[in-house]
Amino acid sequence: MQVQKPYRILLFYKYTPVDNYEEYAAEHLQFCKENGLLGRIIVAPEGINGTVSGTIEQTDAYMEYVRKDPRFADMWFKIDEADEHAFKKIFVRPKSELVTWRLENDVDPNQKTGEYLNPKEFYEMMQQDDVVILDGRNFYEYDLGHFRGAIRPEVDSSREFPEWIRENMSQFKDKKVLTYCTGGIRCEKLTGVLLDQGFENVYQLHGGIVTYGKDPEVQGRLWDGKCYVFDERISVPINHTEEDVVIGRCHYCGKVEDRYVNCANPFCNKQHFCCPECEQTYKRSCSDECREHPRNRFVEAEEKAKLQASASNA
Ligand SMILES: [Zn+2]
Ligand SMILES: [Zn+2]
Repeated sequence: MQVQKPYRILLFYKYTPVDNYEEYAAEHLQFCKENGLLGRIIVAPEGINGTVSGTIEQTDAYMEYVRKDPRFADMWFKIDEADEHAFKKIFVRPKSELVTWRLENDVDPNQKTGEYLNPKEFYEMMQQDDVVILDGRNFYEYDLGHFRGAIRPEVDSSREFPEWIRENMSQFKDKKVLTYCTGGIRCEKLTGVLLDQGFENVYQLHGGIVTYGKDPEVQGRLWDGKCYVFDERISVPINHTEEDVVIGRCHYCGKVEDRYVNCANPFCNKQHFCCPECEQTYKRSCSDECREHPRNRFVEAEEKAKLQASASNA
């Protein structure tokens, strides 16, 4: 029998008009502070998007708080159990958009969006042959894990998608396009963008990859690698069958490795796969230039440790 863990991580969003969004963000922040929730929440005139962590009691209180607002009464919270908080701080920020798209012609997901597929429907449709699967995330998320056969978008923000699709996907206009992202929010407008560009059969994975990974029937099948998440866990497992594989490769030696680190040059900070041995050898720096940078964090930490060692020996 599985014992319930003491903490939870919630992931949620909803597109719905929030007229007083700045005021609501301030009130929301106050609730989180008073109740011990940590995480990142965005409130915009078009809705709310967030991920928070807390104890079972704290997250229960939070879900009740959110849902008692009639605008969010049907909020879908995706819940992960955890041993501890997944964030160090709480931010509730008023912004102009939930995901930064800055579309020339904005799309309202409540008016225009791709057809929702549940995990089983998505799993079955992925295996048809008139289908293309488009990853709705950034390339570094794709590189840690993705659906088998999915197209890797060469973008590192959602803003770059419309142009990238125009330049790279026109040959697929007669196909069914299946999109997916972590929790579903990015596909809400991505599928609208595809429809606006003349794709006719556009589908999205409802609830995202995290929901797919929890479905008792599909059990994450056809997912390779791990799923990148924007909290201290960095990644979560999705495929719970025997076909689970690691697809990351160490940036330096090419060995199978799905451990992500940030480049020790604080001005680069590039996320890359790095095995523990290479971290030492290459000082966690993605290039020679980064390794020799005067503010290299790995080198600074090494020197500090050396100083402390010699001080304690004196
Ligand atoms: Zn290595
Ligand atoms: Zn670097």
